[in-house]
Amino acid sequence: MPTSNLYDTQSLRERDAAHHWHPFTDTKELGANSRVIVGGEGVWIEDSEGNRILDGMAGLWCTQVGHGRREIADAVYAQMTKLAYYNTFFKTTHPPVLELAEKVASLAPPHMNRVFFTGSGSESNDTVIRMVRRYWDLKGKPHKKTIIARRNGYHGSTVGGASLGGMTPMHGQGDLPIPGIVHIAQPYWFGEGGDLSPAEFGLKAARALEAAIDAFGADRIAAFIAEPVQGAGGVIIPPETYWPEIARICRERDILLVVDEVICGFGRLGEWFGSVHFGVEPDLMPIAKGLSSGYLPIGGVVVSDRVADVVIGEGGEFYHGYTYSGHPAACAAALANLAIIEREKLVDRVRDDIGPYLQARWRALGEHPLVGEARMIGLMGALELVPEKTGRAVRFNAPLGDVGALCRDFAFANGLVMRGVRDSMIISPPLVISHDEADELVARARLTLDATHAELKR
Ligand code: PLP
Repeated sequence: MPTSNLYDTQSLRERDAAHHWHPFTDTKELGANSRVIVGGEGVWIEDSEGNRILDGMAGLWCTQVGHGRREIADAVYAQMTKLAYYNTFFKTTHPPVLELAEKVASLAPPHMNRVFFTGSGSESNDTVIRMVRRYWDLKGKPHKKTIIARRNGYHGSTVGGASLGGMTPMHGQGDLPIPGIVHIAQPYWFGEGGDLSPAEFGLKAARALEAAIDAFGADRIAAFIAEPVQGAGGVIIPPETYWPEIARICRERDILLVVDEVICGFGRLGEWFGSVHFGVEPDLMPIAKGLSSGYLPIGGVVVSDRVADVVIGEGGEFYHGYTYSGHPAACAAALANLAIIEREKLVDRVRDDIGPYLQARWRALGEHPLVGEARMIGLMGALELVPEKTGRAVRFNAPLGDVGALCRDFAFANGLVMRGVRDSMIISPPLVISHDEADELVARARLTLDATHAELKR
């Protein structure tokens, strides 16, 4: 990691404040107070003041192989010295893009054999909207246009991605969603399950899809899109009854099933894809993040034979693509990243070793007086903070304010990156996290909870 005393933190903060508009941030309120991150190695990042911080979020749920992997940098360097950029439009291809398409198809379920590359998860989801509508047009059902998504889901920040997402603050800025997208309930048992058991509630939440399809008419619904586990919504883990019922409904009503694997893909749940963990067969899978561990931006849509046979097989030219679709250097980064995941058996490790290890210790945090539920699946988890323990989500009332943000700041001060989502604290560490580091993560999370609890009682 770099030697951080080389940095003049205050000057960097002031320059940042002068010109940089931060995503998902009140940039004015932030002022010259940003955290300046200057290095990363394994699960650790380092700030400009020399603090080593455990990156409990793997960046933004993406650095599966951890920070500072030299071989990815070397692969990118080698590719850039050969061919730094070329496009894949019209009739051109290049070795990294065809190798990556081949690799992703080999990792995907057997019925999915095509990959359309994009630059991000948001672009992947915009691509999905166009692909599903094109599919139904070609099938002679042009009225099948509406896409059903979920409240509190997240599918990106482009106009299409934010419309598919069910985040009302995002919808409030820019007149979203666009027409033809509707949202149904999320399978959030701890918050919305009422008196139902998780199994009963899972069925109820899934049947909201059936009710929506029947209300609109299946002849008008093109697809249903959901994350296997809602990430940015607060690591909402669906009850086991949920996904099989969703799959049944899509099948019986002839609705395409889009499973957004941007977070859950590439090992996060202990399978290559979250849909494999839940035993469902998607028609389309948007991917990004863990595809390259975030080393360079790249995303894509993995497409089933059912859709490809129609849209490619019968559709002629698909008027869609990005300058950076299949960017050679990004493909090289992704190939090197996937090689590490395979060689180090990180997917198996999450399923059989570090996943169960961290889950047990994380769930034990549920005994803390501030925690209503401590849940975790694979290597993604949440602590729901509550003012009183009732066995269900309870919101903090004003004037306590944003408890998640308070706790997130205490976490950082304790050398741990956790994300605050309303009153939940989220983790999604790199898949390479060791047992000792997992213990350290939990110890720091506990200190953070204690500090937050003490502050709330003041
Ligand atoms: N889909 C999901 C499930 C995500 O979590 C995200 C980002 O967090 C996206 C899509 C958007 O990806 P990107 O930020 O790469 O555009």
